[in-house]
Amino acid sequence: MPDENKQKNQGTMKTLLEETRTFRPSEEFKKNANVKDDSIYKEAGKNREAFWAKYAQDLEWYKKWDKVLEWKAPFAKWFVGGKLNASYNCLDRHVKAGNGGKAAILWEGEEGEQRTLTYEDMYKAVNKLANAIKALGVAKGDRVAIYMPMIPEASIAMLACARIGAIHTVIFGGFSSDSLKDRIDDAQAKLLITADGGARRGKMVPLKEVADVAAASCPSIKHVLVVKHASNPVNMKTGRDIWYHEAVEKAADYCEPEKMDAEDILFILYTSGTTGKPKGIIHTTGGYMTSVTATAKWVFDLKKSDVYWCTADVGWVTGHSYITYGPMSNGVTQVMFEGTPDYPERNRFWKIIEKYKVTILYTAPTAIRAFMKWGTQWPEGCDLSSLRLLGTVGEPINPEAWIWYHEVIGKGKCPIVDTWWQTETGSIMISPIPGITTTKPGSAYRPLPGIEATALTAEGKEITEGGGYLAIKNPWPSMLRGIWGNEQRYKDTYWSRWEGYYFPGDGARIDPEGYFWLLGRVDDIMLVAGHNIGTMEVESALVDHPSVAEAAVVGIKDDVKGTAIAAFVILKEGNKAGKELEDVLKKHVDGKIGAIARPSKIIFSAELPKTRSGKIMRRLLRDIGEGRALGDVTTLADASVVEALKTKYDDET
Ligand code: ATP
Ligand code: MG
Repeated sequence: MPDENKQKNQGTMKTLLEETRTFRPSEEFKKNANVKDDSIYKEAGKNREAFWAKYAQDLEWYKKWDKVLEWKAPFAKWFVGGKLNASYNCLDRHVKAGNGGKAAILWEGEEGEQRTLTYEDMYKAVNKLANAIKALGVAKGDRVAIYMPMIPEASIAMLACARIGAIHTVIFGGFSSDSLKDRIDDAQAKLLITADGGARRGKMVPLKEVADVAAASCPSIKHVLVVKHASNPVNMKTGRDIWYHEAVEKAADYCEPEKMDAEDILFILYTSGTTGKPKGIIHTTGGYMTSVTATAKWVFDLKKSDVYWCTADVGWVTGHSYITYGPMSNGVTQVMFEGTPDYPERNRFWKIIEKYKVTILYTAPTAIRAFMKWGTQWPEGCDLSSLRLLGTVGEPINPEAWIWYHEVIGKGKCPIVDTWWQTETGSIMISPIPGITTTKPGSAYRPLPGIEATALTAEGKEITEGGGYLAIKNPWPSMLRGIWGNEQRYKDTYWSRWEGYYFPGDGARIDPEGYFWLLGRVDDIMLVAGHNIGTMEVESALVDHPSVAEAAVVGIKDDVKGTAIAAFVILKEGNKAGKELEDVLKKHVDGKIGAIARPSKIIFSAELPKTRSGKIMRRLLRDIGEGRALGDVTTLADASVVEALKTKYDDET
């Protein structure tokens, strides 16, 4: 760690707002960074539309737009009249520029299988598949459901849809047949692209079997295209099911990309379902491609020489924007991994970084907290010296997890970009820019250039310092254009709370230096004795204790206080749960934040209920704490976790 950082590191957190540790990029990083100075913020501030139009020109357009923005709140149109194709921008232009031989995807399977696909290979595969799905009757505007393991064909399928103007909707390969069915039905998809099976911790996930159950009750599905990947026996329904390799073999080599209107729909993606019934979020072509291309370049500092690795699944928005579209539009080499961090051993991520000399790692706080729990011996046994930049997304990152990531994985030399955004925003909204930002652990810094975010009071007054509801002030290019089939829900969910502001549903605090601290979902914020307390603050105080790996807190109804805080705590390996530690942890929170935030109950647990994307589902913990029957558990990764926790809680209280 550079000396100046070491010095700054002496200060510790009292409350989140008093986090005093700061980290600056090294001179070396700064010198080579894509964004070297903060004039980019000034430029964006001067004329937001002109700023985005400049970055839209990093793409190749068939026809330039007539107008940058048409804003009839809450409906935005960006680059009106412009024509382009996303697959052309991700593939053809790199091949044409002579970079076809460059690796696009370095794929590794769970058992260590390897495949390298160059941009030329991707280009060929996408062209052939585009022709193959056209031959199956899929036309511009039709919906195609993609239900795949983490294999290159997942990105190929997305890009093939984009090439012919079909709208893809990717459904995470871990979803059940019911979830798959609901999403196919809502989108009225005509074609389903899947695989025979996928790998998970040494077992085979029978994707085709699950897909068969869903497809049987989805009359909109005319064909199912099946990638042979796991080579497990599957039923192929005559007339409906076709092997992917047979279909592409017959297809012609070139498919003319459809000249898409900037506002034509590129994809629908259902939100991961932390809060309730999934919404089909609509993204269009021109604005989305502009935002993901630019933000990938600024935030991940992508260079021709990088080996970038985003560990998200293609089924989440992160996999759309920062595996398929953003990185490929930038022509970068990336690792794609079908597997889990603990198979066959808990050092799998670090082995991959060592093997492929990964330079940029983008992962989730939930993974980082699991690594902390497992201990430093796993990363320490691997050579991580190729890393130069680290990123996180998905949840607020607790300062202690940030510091661990910085020291143990980044060896004190890699800037960390904590990126706040959502399925709805399409691209990163609040994040450091690694070559110029002085970061504070736990803060996502401030809105990116071209984005105007603020915090509001409940009455809708803007706050320049202090806590409130996060809100976005103006339309941005990759903004969602609606909820599929439900315009009213779009208005109600995002635009009706305060006029003229987009409401993401998260709480944020702005510190005196203008840094944003994401506090979690506003539905989870606890009102204790008249004070709003973010779940993030109490959880971070708990994780700050050396024995704690992960914590989730919720406010539960209390006859005396109105609301009492219950904390569910996962200990690092080697620590003993019990009354003694419970008291220690309560005191620890007292000391860090104050008595007001002291949990009245601490429940030690081996696991926490999480969505399939790895986020803690606090509303279920509230159900447990308040002794209610559990609410909707369909989006949980493992429903047995919450059942076991409920039993334990009921026994202990
Ligand atoms: P649903 O909207 O269906 O409940 P979801 O919100 O989990 O699901 P996503 O769009 O994948 O679906 O997640 C976006 C949310 O994740 C944000 O609104 C925020 O709550 C959280 N989040 C993402 N990144 C960060 C971050 N860097 N810091 C804090 N919170 C984050
Ligand atoms: Mg959400």
